[in-house]
Amino acid sequence: MEASPLKKLEQLEFSLDSVTDLSSSPPASPSSPAVATFSCVDGVTELRFLQPDSTHCFTFDLASAQLFKLGTVQFICVSDDNSEERSFSKGVNIKFGSEKDSKEFCDSFEEWRKDALVPGSSIVSASNSKFDEKIEASSAKMYFHYYGQLLHQQNMLQDYVRTGTYYAAVMENRSDFAGRVVVDVGAGSGILSMFAAQAGAKHVYAVEASEMAEYARKLIAGNPLFADRITVIKGKVEDIELPEKADILISEPMGTLLVNERMLESYVIARDRFMSPNGKMFPTVGRIHMAPFSDEFLFIEMANKALFWQQQNYYGVDLTPLFGSAHQGYFSQPVVDAFDPRLLVAPLMFHTIDFTQMKEEDFYEIDIPLKFTSSVCTRVHGLACWFDVLFDGSTVQRWLTTAPGAPTTHWYQIRCVLAQPIYVMAGQEITGRLHLIAHSAQSYTIDLTLSAKMWGPGASQGGILQSSTGKFDLKEPYYRMSQPQAYPAAQEPPLPPQPQLNPQDIQIQSDDFEEELLQEPAQNASTQL
Ligand code: SAH
Repeated sequence: MEASPLKKLEQLEFSLDSVTDLSSSPPASPSSPAVATFSCVDGVTELRFLQPDSTHCFTFDLASAQLFKLGTVQFICVSDDNSEERSFSKGVNIKFGSEKDSKEFCDSFEEWRKDALVPGSSIVSASNSKFDEKIEASSAKMYFHYYGQLLHQQNMLQDYVRTGTYYAAVMENRSDFAGRVVVDVGAGSGILSMFAAQAGAKHVYAVEASEMAEYARKLIAGNPLFADRITVIKGKVEDIELPEKADILISEPMGTLLVNERMLESYVIARDRFMSPNGKMFPTVGRIHMAPFSDEFLFIEMANKALFWQQQNYYGVDLTPLFGSAHQGYFSQPVVDAFDPRLLVAPLMFHTIDFTQMKEEDFYEIDIPLKFTSSVCTRVHGLACWFDVLFDGSTVQRWLTTAPGAPTTHWYQIRCVLAQPIYVMAGQEITGRLHLIAHSAQSYTIDLTLSAKMWGPGASQGGILQSSTGKFDLKEPYYRMSQPQAYPAAQEPPLPPQPQLNPQDIQIQSDDFEEELLQEPAQNASTQL
């Protein structure tokens, strides 16, 4: 392991905006600028805070000191004079002039404390973050790294169905924004904050956890018409503090199947932390829509993927021992694409999620009983799902929909394909369950059961004729946007399922290509009639 350059120094100094003694009673008012000095004297590693205009000096033995993070530039440093007791007897509140200074100080604190031979991390988040408690650090790191890049924000901005609907919903409901305090939950590039400001918001707090916060600052500063009414706050909505309550929250927290990414939990946490009692939420309500579908081509495409593992002589190697696992693997991937709504075989049902009422814990497990009546005699390959959200404005109620047949969005639609299809007759009831269980990688495990009920003369017995189950990981979708498809106009009556593609038209994509597709903007125009 490389030695830290800091350890070679005998002394290291930092300038502080203020130091306040917490041990005095009553607590002292914030003091003038001070200097923090790390040093090693006679084998004891110390941290001293000295105010140039005073002789008073606070000295902490780093072996027993701890740093509590209160905000990006503010900390409390405490130390336990008697290491046998765990009560902290000495403490100061320290404040830095910039995030850069505070970060450098934190890094040095860790390094110097290591020298003081006390194991374990010494910087404690005083906020006891709800986010960090339930989300794996590696997942969060990748997630915020992704959103920290302009190309991914651009992908969302270029989804004109999405961004245009938000713009319309805000501008049509100016009275909900004019003169109001707004919080933009997960502001990204700051676009929704700037919509709110254009609608006359008194002040907008744009909260963004990723590095995108810096770009948002830059973008907002370059728009002087509203720059002075928007404050960008870098941090998680679970952790940061705001100086006032909000009249309205605006956010775009939806993932595929509405709930993917688990950001709706942050949205309702922000509601509980920042919204005044009669506040509004934009969006207000979300609905997961579901219907069984029949798509022979998709089914064959997925089954064919695993056929590679049927080879008994692959350069002399028998691959068949892994066929079962590969087959199961492909059928555990929810399929993301824009499909023809004529593939649906029964009238849809939906499950409503009211963002103004849901508790954060309600998102941990979402259980949806299913009941459909098949319109046709067909083979059902699984369940198709999409969502919409409502902006319940005081002037206009506007829906943003991701339905098949409607203009395509970057969310597309999602289909859970069963390895064992079920057969149904027209008028036959299909029952089942869609069970979503949140996991710590910011997504969900999906358990799906579809059953064909007894029908016709046997219906009165009420039993199940045939049942099929599948398990899917929403975090590992199969992006299948291989080519534009023609859709019927939304008003057309549904027809029996008619395959639109020839099997030879279906492209088998490499993983790399899928990766690239993920980054492509939604090709809205080309996929519409
Ligand atoms: N509002 C922007 C970006 C939406 S994407 C727009 O509509 O274009 C969601 C954004 O929320 C991402 O930039 C992500 O980094 C941020 N985010 C997700 N969870 C968050 C949390 N808990 N606290 C703060 N920001 C969060």
